[in-house]
Amino acid sequence: MAELIRSDRAASLQLSEIVKISEAARARQAEGHPVLTFGTGEPDFKTPENVIAAAHKAALAGDTGYPPTAGKPALREAIAMDAERFCGFRPEIAEIMVSTGAKQVIHNAFAATVNPGDEVIMPAPYWTSYADIVDFCQGEMVTVPCGADQGFRLTPDALEAAITDKTRWLMLNTPGNPSGAMYSGEDLEALAEVLRKHPQVWVIADEIYMHITYAPFTSFRKAAPDLADRTLIVNGVSKSYAMTGWRLGWGIGPVELIKAMTAIQGQCTSGASSISQAAALEALTGPQNLLAERCDAFRARRDMVVDALNAVDGITCEVPGGAFYVYPNCEGLFGRTTSGGKLIENDADVCEYILNEGNVALVPGRAFGLPGHFRLSYAYSDADLTEGCARIARAVNELKGA
Ligand code: PMP
Repeated sequence: MAELIRSDRAASLQLSEIVKISEAARARQAEGHPVLTFGTGEPDFKTPENVIAAAHKAALAGDTGYPPTAGKPALREAIAMDAERFCGFRPEIAEIMVSTGAKQVIHNAFAATVNPGDEVIMPAPYWTSYADIVDFCQGEMVTVPCGADQGFRLTPDALEAAITDKTRWLMLNTPGNPSGAMYSGEDLEALAEVLRKHPQVWVIADEIYMHITYAPFTSFRKAAPDLADRTLIVNGVSKSYAMTGWRLGWGIGPVELIKAMTAIQGQCTSGASSISQAAALEALTGPQNLLAERCDAFRARRDMVVDALNAVDGITCEVPGGAFYVYPNCEGLFGRTTSGGKLIENDADVCEYILNEGNVALVPGRAFGLPGHFRLSYAYSDADLTEGCARIARAVNELKGA
């Protein structure tokens, strides 16, 4: 067999912790264990029927050719309207590009702007892919731990301390994955105040969970309109409209950045699928009542999960402001031992134990740059969540040495 020689770039890419836990869960399932997987960030709702119908219609009508690399004008127009309606600012069409998911927007941005050694400030906990994409683009992660005591949010002082003359980007995510933390308008204004002193620092604000919020949402571009010339807003239909598989997201940023990102995309995917663009157009311009309905359903699940986890001795869980994750602290379990005599020393041990003893798959916090926690996604049915939390409680109660 010929030996594969990996590029330096590809060699740094690891199998994600989330994929590893999903594989471990699947392996247990294959052995006949009834595993409940709360590992992935995917709404359990279905794509709305009007959206599917619009995609079907577009395909039958022959909307099947290559779309413009930056996205179809009608969709970009709808995105501008959507930003005005929900985020309080109206971008120009030239400030918008459509990509194959929000993930590709972020990839395009870093690929277009980061040189080896350029620093990206990453408040932790962060979505794992941010780190992998920065790595892939040969940037330097500057991780800033943001613990539960500060609501998992970056403070202006911590931002100031992290900035150097090599800082290229600040990565913000509100509401955040994995913590669910949401920045208020005042929080964002305070961060913007620091950024005004450092013109070399640009901001990515990933706002993909903006419709899953339990308090008023503020977009970074609304909070700091004067920084629009160095702000990239990231958004998409995956989470809000339950459209993860359609692979459709967008970026809103200064025209020169959008052009540079479009050039990357042009030699990568040539742009998002024309059918998915037709679907997203309908999602944004069709009825919006499902957003509030789904958000209410997520809020009820959040409350149930937070209460259930806080009732477990050794686990403490903050109440998240948005998204569909909780990020409880499990350090209270460290030092306990399993019935098989294994010492629990860290969050990975906790997750391994809960998978093997409780048949519940969770993701260890070390994957998100802030250990001592685990992530539970509550984008699952009420029945599964109730059963899953009961299993976690039972497994924890069986540990010795509390
Ligand atoms: N940003 C965040 C914070 C996410 O959690 C995810 C999905 N897990 C994405 C972006 C990716 O979204 P998309 O499906 O649009 O690529």
